Amino acid sequence: MTAALLEGKPIAEKIKSALKNEIAALKTKAGCSPMLVAIQIGDNASSAVYVKNQKKVAEELGIEYELTTLPADASQADVEKLIAEFNEDDAVTAIILQLPVPKAIDPKKVIGMIAPSKDAEGMNPWNLGKILCGNYKIGPCTAMAVMELLESTGVKLYGKEACVIGHSEIVGKPLALMLLKKFATTTVCHIATGERGVLADHVERAEILIVAVGKPGLIKGEWIKDGAIVVDVGINRVGDKIVGDVEFDAAAIRASLITPVPGGVGPLTTVILMRNVVELFKESFKL
Ligand code: NAD
Repeated sequence: MTAALLEGKPIAEKIKSALKNEIAALKTKAGCSPMLVAIQIGDNASSAVYVKNQKKVAEELGIEYELTTLPADASQADVEKLIAEFNEDDAVTAIILQLPVPKAIDPKKVIGMIAPSKDAEGMNPWNLGKILCGNYKIGPCTAMAVMELLESTGVKLYGKEACVIGHSEIVGKPLALMLLKKFATTTVCHIATGERGVLADHVERAEILIVAVGKPGLIKGEWIKDGAIVVDVGINRVGDKIVGDVEFDAAAIRASLITPVPGGVGPLTTVILMRNVVELFKESFKL
Protein backbone atom coordinates (compact mmCIF):
# COMPACT_ATOMS: atom_id res chain seq x y z
CA MET A 1 0.00 0.00 0.00
CA THR A 2 1.22 3.51 -0.72
CA ALA A 3 -0.31 6.19 1.40
CA ALA A 4 -2.19 9.20 0.11
CA LEU A 5 -1.15 12.53 1.57
CA LEU A 6 -3.27 14.04 4.32
CA GLU A 7 -2.60 17.73 3.80
CA GLY A 8 -3.62 20.57 6.07
CA LYS A 9 -3.84 23.41 3.56
CA PRO A 10 -7.08 22.48 1.75
CA ILE A 11 -8.83 21.96 5.10
CA ALA A 12 -7.43 25.25 6.41
CA GLU A 13 -8.75 27.07 3.33
CA LYS A 14 -12.22 25.59 3.83
CA ILE A 15 -12.34 26.61 7.50
CA LYS A 16 -11.02 30.07 6.64
CA SER A 17 -13.65 30.70 4.04
CA ALA A 18 -16.48 29.60 6.40
CA LEU A 19 -15.00 31.76 9.19
CA LYS A 20 -14.78 34.82 6.96
CA ASN A 21 -18.51 34.73 6.26
CA GLU A 22 -19.37 33.93 9.86
CA ILE A 23 -17.23 36.78 11.23
CA ALA A 24 -18.82 39.32 8.90
CA ALA A 25 -22.29 38.30 10.13
CA LEU A 26 -21.21 38.27 13.80
CA LYS A 27 -19.74 41.77 13.53
CA THR A 28 -23.04 43.09 12.21
CA LYS A 29 -24.98 41.40 15.01
CA ALA A 30 -22.61 42.40 17.83
CA GLY A 31 -21.84 45.88 16.52
CA CYS A 32 -18.16 45.31 17.24
CA SER A 33 -15.29 43.14 16.11
CA PRO A 34 -13.49 40.22 17.70
CA MET A 35 -10.06 41.39 18.82
CA LEU A 36 -7.10 39.17 19.53
CA VAL A 37 -4.17 40.60 21.46
CA ALA A 38 -0.87 38.78 21.36
CA ILE A 39 1.73 39.24 24.07
CA GLN A 40 5.32 38.69 23.12
CA ILE A 41 8.11 38.95 25.67
CA GLY A 42 11.52 39.79 24.25
CA ASP A 43 12.73 38.93 20.77
CA ASN A 44 12.33 35.41 19.52
CA ALA A 45 12.79 34.48 15.88
CA SER A 46 10.30 31.60 15.86
CA SER A 47 7.57 33.47 17.70
CA ALA A 48 8.11 36.44 15.36
CA VAL A 49 7.18 34.15 12.45
CA TYR A 50 4.02 33.00 14.26
CA VAL A 51 3.04 36.58 15.10
CA LYS A 52 3.43 37.68 11.50
CA ASN A 53 1.31 34.79 10.30
CA GLN A 54 -1.34 35.33 12.98
CA LYS A 55 -1.65 38.99 12.00
CA LYS A 56 -2.00 38.10 8.33
CA VAL A 57 -4.69 35.46 8.89
CA ALA A 58 -6.58 37.58 11.43
CA GLU A 59 -6.73 40.54 9.05
CA GLU A 60 -7.76 38.32 6.16
CA LEU A 61 -10.69 37.07 8.25
CA GLY A 62 -11.76 40.41 9.72
CA ILE A 63 -10.43 39.89 13.24
CA GLU A 64 -8.61 42.84 14.81
CA TYR A 65 -5.09 41.88 15.86
CA GLU A 66 -2.80 43.77 18.18
CA LEU A 67 0.67 42.80 19.27
CA THR A 68 2.06 44.01 22.59
CA THR A 69 5.77 43.40 23.05
CA LEU A 70 7.32 43.50 26.50
CA PRO A 71 11.09 43.82 26.92
CA ALA A 72 13.09 40.61 27.46
CA ASP A 73 13.77 41.64 31.07
CA ALA A 74 10.07 42.09 31.94
CA SER A 75 9.21 40.60 35.34
CA GLN A 76 6.48 38.11 36.16
CA ALA A 77 4.61 40.98 37.84
CA ASP A 78 4.82 43.09 34.64
CA VAL A 79 3.30 40.30 32.58
CA GLU A 80 0.58 39.58 35.14
CA LYS A 81 -0.32 43.27 35.28
CA LEU A 82 -0.70 43.37 31.51
CA ILE A 83 -2.89 40.26 31.48
CA ALA A 84 -5.08 41.79 34.21
CA GLU A 85 -5.50 44.93 32.08
CA PHE A 86 -6.47 42.94 29.00
CA ASN A 87 -8.86 40.81 31.05
CA GLU A 88 -10.64 44.01 32.11
CA ASP A 89 -10.64 45.66 28.67
CA ASP A 90 -14.00 45.02 26.96
CA ALA A 91 -12.55 45.74 23.50
CA VAL A 92 -10.16 42.79 23.89
CA THR A 93 -12.06 39.57 23.23
CA ALA A 94 -9.13 37.13 23.11
CA ILE A 95 -5.56 36.92 24.44
CA ILE A 96 -2.60 34.77 23.42
CA LEU A 97 0.77 34.54 25.13
CA GLN A 98 3.46 33.81 22.54
CA LEU A 99 5.78 31.01 23.59
CA PRO A 100 8.58 30.57 24.41
CA VAL A 101 8.96 33.20 27.13
CA PRO A 102 12.20 34.24 28.89
CA LYS A 103 13.30 32.11 31.86
CA ALA A 104 12.12 34.62 34.47
CA ILE A 105 8.51 34.14 33.39
CA ASP A 106 6.35 31.20 34.46
CA PRO A 107 4.19 30.58 31.35
CA LYS A 108 1.76 28.23 33.12
CA LYS A 109 1.03 30.83 35.78
CA VAL A 110 0.51 33.53 33.15
CA ILE A 111 -1.76 31.35 31.02
CA GLY A 112 -3.70 30.45 34.16
CA MET A 113 -4.37 34.16 34.68
CA ILE A 114 -5.89 34.74 31.24
CA ALA A 115 -9.67 34.96 31.71
CA PRO A 116 -11.11 31.62 30.45
CA SER A 117 -13.54 33.66 28.32
CA LYS A 118 -10.56 35.28 26.51
CA ASP A 119 -8.22 32.28 26.38
CA ALA A 120 -7.49 32.05 22.64
CA GLU A 121 -5.33 28.95 22.90
CA GLY A 122 -7.63 27.06 25.25
CA MET A 123 -4.71 26.40 27.58
CA ASN A 124 -6.20 27.84 30.78
CA PRO A 125 -6.94 24.95 33.24
CA TRP A 126 -10.66 25.83 33.10
CA ASN A 127 -10.76 25.32 29.35
CA LEU A 128 -8.58 22.20 29.53
CA GLY A 129 -11.02 20.90 32.16
CA LYS A 130 -13.89 21.36 29.72
CA ILE A 131 -12.10 19.03 27.32
CA LEU A 132 -11.86 16.47 30.13
CA CYS A 133 -15.64 16.78 30.55
CA GLY A 134 -16.17 16.40 26.79
CA ASN A 135 -17.91 19.76 26.66
CA TYR A 136 -15.72 22.14 24.66
CA LYS A 137 -15.81 24.40 21.64
CA ILE A 138 -12.24 25.68 21.88
CA GLY A 139 -9.02 23.84 22.64
CA PRO A 140 -5.27 23.79 22.14
CA CYS A 141 -4.81 24.54 18.45
CA THR A 142 -2.52 21.66 17.50
CA ALA A 143 -4.70 19.02 19.17
CA MET A 144 -7.79 20.53 17.50
CA ALA A 145 -5.93 20.59 14.17
CA VAL A 146 -5.20 16.86 14.43
CA MET A 147 -8.89 16.17 15.09
CA GLU A 148 -9.81 18.27 12.04
CA LEU A 149 -7.40 16.25 9.87
CA LEU A 150 -8.86 12.97 11.15
CA GLU A 151 -12.41 14.18 10.62
CA SER A 152 -11.59 15.18 7.03
CA THR A 153 -10.79 11.55 6.23
CA GLY A 154 -14.38 10.54 6.98
CA VAL A 155 -13.06 7.58 9.00
CA LYS A 156 -15.19 6.72 12.02
CA LEU A 157 -13.06 6.80 15.16
CA TYR A 158 -15.60 4.82 17.20
CA GLY A 159 -13.88 1.71 18.57
CA LYS A 160 -10.69 2.28 16.53
CA GLU A 161 -7.27 1.61 18.03
CA ALA A 162 -5.70 5.06 18.38
CA CYS A 163 -2.21 5.63 19.69
CA VAL A 164 -0.91 9.05 20.70
CA ILE A 165 2.84 9.31 21.18
CA GLY A 166 3.73 12.29 23.36
CA HIS A 167 1.78 13.44 26.42
CA SER A 168 2.39 17.20 26.59
CA GLU A 169 -0.35 19.47 27.91
CA ILE A 170 -0.45 21.33 24.61
CA VAL A 171 -0.74 18.36 22.23
CA GLY A 172 -0.77 14.76 23.49
CA LYS A 173 -2.98 14.96 26.59
CA PRO A 174 -5.81 17.09 25.17
CA LEU A 175 -5.71 15.06 21.97
CA ALA A 176 -6.10 11.81 23.89
CA LEU A 177 -9.20 13.25 25.59
CA MET A 178 -10.62 14.39 22.24
CA LEU A 179 -10.12 10.90 20.81
CA LEU A 180 -11.81 9.39 23.86
CA LYS A 181 -14.77 11.65 23.29
CA LYS A 182 -15.08 9.99 19.87
CA PHE A 183 -14.85 6.55 21.56
CA ALA A 184 -11.52 5.66 20.00
CA THR A 185 -9.67 3.08 22.12
CA THR A 186 -6.84 5.41 22.99
CA THR A 187 -3.35 4.55 24.17
CA VAL A 188 -0.93 7.29 25.22
CA CYS A 189 2.81 6.63 24.98
CA HIS A 190 5.60 8.86 26.27
CA ILE A 191 9.24 8.93 27.23
CA ALA A 192 8.87 6.03 29.68
CA THR A 193 7.25 3.88 26.97
CA GLY A 194 10.23 4.63 24.76
CA GLU A 195 12.75 3.92 27.52
CA ARG A 196 11.08 0.59 28.28
CA GLY A 197 11.56 -0.32 24.62
CA VAL A 198 7.91 -1.11 23.90
CA LEU A 199 6.99 1.77 21.58
CA ALA A 200 6.87 -0.58 18.57
CA ASP A 201 4.31 -2.85 20.31
CA HIS A 202 1.88 0.05 20.67
CA VAL A 203 2.51 1.52 17.22
CA GLU A 204 1.97 -1.87 15.56
CA ARG A 205 -1.60 -2.00 16.93
CA ALA A 206 -2.55 1.55 15.96
CA GLU A 207 -5.13 2.11 13.24
CA ILE A 208 -4.82 5.81 13.99
CA LEU A 209 -1.31 6.93 14.94
CA ILE A 210 -0.48 10.43 16.10
CA VAL A 211 3.10 11.31 16.96
CA ALA A 212 4.03 14.51 18.80
CA VAL A 213 7.49 14.07 20.28
CA GLY A 214 10.14 16.13 18.49
CA LYS A 215 12.62 13.35 17.63
CA PRO A 216 13.29 12.75 13.93
CA GLY A 217 12.95 9.12 12.85
CA LEU A 218 11.69 7.97 16.27
CA ILE A 219 8.86 5.98 14.67
CA LYS A 220 10.16 3.35 12.28
CA GLY A 221 8.25 2.79 9.06
CA GLU A 222 8.24 -0.99 9.61
CA TRP A 223 6.21 -0.54 12.83
CA ILE A 224 3.25 1.03 11.03
CA LYS A 225 0.14 -1.13 10.76
CA ASP A 226 -1.06 -1.77 7.21
CA GLY A 227 -3.69 0.81 6.27
CA ALA A 228 -3.08 3.03 9.33
CA ILE A 229 -3.74 6.76 9.30
CA VAL A 230 -0.57 8.52 10.43
CA VAL A 231 -0.52 12.12 11.68
CA ASP A 232 2.99 13.37 12.34
CA VAL A 233 2.96 16.48 14.52
CA GLY A 234 6.73 16.58 15.06
CA ILE A 235 8.77 19.44 13.64
CA ASN A 236 12.50 18.85 13.52
CA ARG A 237 15.20 20.65 11.65
CA VAL A 238 17.66 18.16 10.12
CA GLY A 239 20.33 19.96 8.09
CA ASP A 240 18.40 22.33 5.88
CA LYS A 241 15.21 20.25 5.96
CA ILE A 242 12.20 20.15 8.26
CA VAL A 243 11.10 16.60 9.05
CA GLY A 244 8.63 14.95 11.41
CA ASP A 245 9.05 12.16 13.96
CA VAL A 246 8.01 9.33 11.63
CA GLU A 247 10.23 7.76 8.95
CA PHE A 248 8.07 9.14 6.18
CA ASP A 249 9.06 7.06 3.13
CA ALA A 250 8.99 3.72 4.94
CA ALA A 251 5.76 4.57 6.77
CA ALA A 252 4.05 5.65 3.53
CA ILE A 253 4.50 2.14 2.11
CA ARG A 254 2.21 0.76 4.84
CA ALA A 255 -0.12 3.61 5.82
CA SER A 256 -3.31 4.48 3.95
CA LEU A 257 -2.99 8.19 4.75
CA ILE A 258 -0.05 10.15 6.12
CA THR A 259 0.57 13.82 6.82
CA PRO A 260 3.56 15.44 5.13
CA VAL A 261 5.96 17.49 7.29
CA PRO A 262 5.78 20.36 6.66
CA GLY A 263 2.27 20.73 5.25
CA GLY A 264 0.19 18.47 7.50
CA VAL A 265 -0.79 19.82 10.90
CA GLY A 266 1.09 23.13 10.65
CA PRO A 267 -1.10 24.99 8.12
CA LEU A 268 -4.16 24.36 10.29
CA THR A 269 -3.02 25.68 13.65
CA THR A 270 -3.35 29.43 13.02
CA VAL A 271 -6.77 28.97 11.46
CA ILE A 272 -7.89 26.95 14.48
CA LEU A 273 -6.58 29.75 16.71
CA MET A 274 -8.85 32.17 14.83
CA ARG A 275 -11.76 29.75 15.15
CA ASN A 276 -11.16 29.71 18.91
CA VAL A 277 -11.26 33.53 18.87
CA VAL A 278 -14.60 33.43 17.06
CA GLU A 279 -16.05 30.85 19.47
CA LEU A 280 -15.01 33.00 22.45
CA PHE A 281 -16.60 36.04 20.81
CA LYS A 282 -19.86 34.18 20.21
CA GLU A 283 -19.90 32.92 23.79
CA SER A 284 -19.23 36.40 25.26
CA PHE A 285 -21.91 38.09 23.17
CA LYS A 286 -24.32 35.12 23.41
CA LEU A 287 -24.46 34.98 19.59
P1 NAD B 1 7.08 18.28 24.50
O1 NAD B 1 8.57 18.31 24.53
O2 NAD B 1 6.30 19.10 25.46
O3 NAD B 1 6.62 16.76 24.70
C1 NAD B 1 7.29 15.71 24.07
C2 NAD B 1 6.60 14.43 24.42
O4 NAD B 1 7.33 13.36 23.82
C3 NAD B 1 6.57 14.11 25.91
O5 NAD B 1 5.31 13.58 26.24
C4 NAD B 1 7.64 13.05 26.09
O6 NAD B 1 7.37 12.15 27.17
C5 NAD B 1 7.56 12.33 24.75
N1 NAD B 1 8.79 11.63 24.39
C6 NAD B 1 10.07 12.11 24.42
N2 NAD B 1 10.93 11.16 24.01
C7 NAD B 1 10.19 10.06 23.72
C8 NAD B 1 10.50 8.76 23.26
N3 NAD B 1 11.76 8.38 23.03
N4 NAD B 1 9.49 7.88 23.06
C9 NAD B 1 8.20 8.24 23.30
N5 NAD B 1 7.85 9.47 23.73
C10 NAD B 1 8.83 10.37 23.94
O7 NAD B 1 6.68 18.59 23.00
P2 NAD B 1 5.34 19.23 22.35
O8 NAD B 1 5.28 20.66 22.65
O9 NAD B 1 4.17 18.35 22.63
O10 NAD B 1 5.73 19.08 20.81
C11 NAD B 1 6.02 17.82 20.24
C12 NAD B 1 6.47 18.00 18.79
O11 NAD B 1 5.41 18.58 18.06
C13 NAD B 1 7.67 18.95 18.61
O12 NAD B 1 8.44 18.50 17.52
C14 NAD B 1 7.02 20.27 18.27
O13 NAD B 1 7.87 21.10 17.51
C15 NAD B 1 5.86 19.79 17.45
N6 NAD B 1 4.72 20.73 17.43
C16 NAD B 1 4.19 20.98 16.21
C17 NAD B 1 3.12 21.84 16.10
C18 NAD B 1 2.54 22.10 14.74
O14 NAD B 1 1.86 23.08 14.54
N7 NAD B 1 2.76 21.23 13.76
C19 NAD B 1 2.60 22.46 17.23
C20 NAD B 1 3.12 22.13 18.49
C21 NAD B 1 4.19 21.25 18.57
